[in-house]
Amino acid sequence: MANDRRGPRLPERQTTVRSELKAILHEGPFTTRDLSVRVGVGEKDVAMHLEHIARSVQASGERFEVEPPRCLACGFVFKDRTRMTKPSRCPRCKGERLAPARYRIATTRKTPRPDADATRV
Ligand SMILES: [Zn+2]
Repeated sequence: MANDRRGPRLPERQTTVRSELKAILHEGPFTTRDLSVRVGVGEKDVAMHLEHIARSVQASGERFEVEPPRCLACGFVFKDRTRMTKPSRCPRCKGERLAPARYRIATTRKTPRPDADATRV
């Protein structure tokens, strides 16, 4: 796996990682771990990028979808989580075997709406 984390953190690299993530997310859903492996940055960095991507995709007529984390022991779903980081244990049964959240980008608008584009000529 290409996992070069020694180099300096250039803004260009940040941009590249983010666009890579966006491209990959269209094939999703993926966990932050999956994404971390695919783009070669740590899971915390992936989580940070995801928060930006979640906000930015809406502007392009796409939807950022989150499949919430779930407790494997009792089935509790972490629906109210808004952060992209992983919960450590289940609040209901205190179990620590959790299925991580998965993320994807869904295209919600296949054909451009005339009313939205008309003003941008
Ligand atoms: Zn549980």
